[in-house]
Amino acid sequence: MDKLNLVYEGKAKKVYSTEDKSYFIMEFKDDATAFNGQKKGKIRDKGIVNNRISAFLFELLEKNGIKTHFVKLLSEREMLVKAVRILPLEVIVRNIAAGSLAKKLGLNEGEKLQRPVLELCYKNDKLQDPMINNFHAMALGIATQEQLKFIEETSFKINKILQAFFMQKGIILVDFKLEYGTFGDEILLADEISPDTCRLWDAGTGEKLDKDRFRRDLGKVEEAYQEVLKRLIEK
Ligand code: UDP
Repeated sequence: MDKLNLVYEGKAKKVYSTEDKSYFIMEFKDDATAFNGQKKGKIRDKGIVNNRISAFLFELLEKNGIKTHFVKLLSEREMLVKAVRILPLEVIVRNIAAGSLAKKLGLNEGEKLQRPVLELCYKNDKLQDPMINNFHAMALGIATQEQLKFIEETSFKINKILQAFFMQKGIILVDFKLEYGTFGDEILLADEISPDTCRLWDAGTGEKLDKDRFRRDLGKVEEAYQEVLKRLIEK
């Protein structure tokens, strides 16, 4: 299937229409941004690595009964996905305090939370993606109560699957962000799951293997992304 028109360009990906209106082609770029676009850069071959990591994790989730937009890998940087309509929500799941949550609740980064936390943010660059609750999401017409319940349950299921899987690979899943889209009557997991959208810490050393290396100028950014891919695919 070939790319037709660019339908969306985000910070890390481009989405193209195809001849079949049920499918999009998603292309992963090397561009990286942080702090609502204030920090910009490139991470060499990030697009290639994130395409493969996302494909791998979407397949893992599908095997575990989670419906995703992923269809198949097309090339180094491209995957074929179902043409969902993305809900303007960032769904964040957290197991360990880090980043904005640690700051907000006065916790030390690395403190284990007594239960996983789910947060919703309204995807809106102008407003800098404010955190919202279910009532705001319904008031804005983003999703119904039923859809929000499904998203919540699915996100916690995904957390269990990914947490257990990463642990086998010696990686702690600290937190991550999900996006969902509607496809007819269905809600599918969409976007990507990668070191751009997860906090991943080495279980032995605590070393960060994710975008915080870029955000916080910790160095060895490319190496960290490659390391995650290597651990995922090794038997
Ligand atoms: N996250 C993301 N995109 C965003 C905001 C957050 O992928 O626009 C991910 C981030 O990588 C982390 C989790 O969501 O794994 C929680 O992020 P947090 O709110 O702590 O973000 P911070 O403000 O610290 O970057």
